[in-house]
Amino acid sequence: SKFRDGLEKTRKGFVEKVADLMIRRKKIDEEFYEELEEILIGADVGVNTVMDLIDDLRAEVKKQRIEDASELQPILSQKLMELLRGDDDNAIRMNPDGITVVLFVGVNGVGKTTTIGKLAHRFKQEGKKVILAAGDTFRAGAIEQLEVWGERAGVEVIKQHAGSDPAAVMYDAVQAAKQRQADVLICDTAGRLQNKTNLMEELNKIFRVIQREIPGAPHEVLMVLDATTGQNALNQAKLFGEKSGVTGLVLTKLDGTAKGGIVVAIRQELNLPVKFVGLGEKMEDLQPFDSEQFVHALFA
Ligand code: GDP
Repeated sequence: SKFRDGLEKTRKGFVEKVADLMIRRKKIDEEFYEELEEILIGADVGVNTVMDLIDDLRAEVKKQRIEDASELQPILSQKLMELLRGDDDNAIRMNPDGITVVLFVGVNGVGKTTTIGKLAHRFKQEGKKVILAAGDTFRAGAIEQLEVWGERAGVEVIKQHAGSDPAAVMYDAVQAAKQRQADVLICDTAGRLQNKTNLMEELNKIFRVIQREIPGAPHEVLMVLDATTGQNALNQAKLFGEKSGVTGLVLTKLDGTAKGGIVVAIRQELNLPVKFVGLGEKMEDLQPFDSEQFVHALFA
């Protein structure tokens, strides 16, 4: 499956290490727990979550009188699944009577443009009419890059010249979406880290324009995070997410890291659903997040 291929590195760098440990040590003693703790923290599961996990395992070992460490694997995968599950909510909230607006936020380089292209393709495959708004007028090349993805996905991109007011681009894009009777409008925004206050003002202005033109919009504000940056991604989400009305997360480049445990940390520490994960650079490599499939792909 897509998940299995995309999670190869995490399986090798994390799951196989756990399996190894369980077979090698056999005995469940303090050293075993310490090593397990190290592996979990090394996979970016997050220190607090790891402590809780280990406590849970200790309790199970006691309760079920388990003596052989290899018997712990199904219990560990079950616990991870419980931590990940929460309320799996990967559906995009659609506007029942009109254009659905999905706004993307995230710092440069995390994979925002790529994800927009992939999502446009997904919607298109579902038979929906999609329009993209080139709202990152700040980063050199951002507009052109979005156009490349628009062409790939076969959807129209609404743009102005570099340096223009992103809110004006959004206004144009909403008008175009109305005229063409589009189903979905996907909006890119600037992801520069410097000038954070201005970026917030810019986002607020974008919000106001979209809300005024389409009541109830934006229907989703998706924050894109790069899984390969581990705990950094988590901190970004905490800093940036609270203020920008984020409704869901996209975790990219999971295929590029052995530290897929970051998904667990994110689920535990942020009260936001993971809507999609990126498992490669191609158009098809965007998967709706499903905790059960995810854990199965790792442990099965
Ligand atoms: P942006 O600056 O946030 O718009 O980032 P881009 O969309 O330009 O992506 C930055 C780089 O990450 C590009 O080289 C993409 O091909 C790559 N990328 C994006 N998503 C994924 C993913 O899920 N997996 C992998 N392996 N690479 C990705």
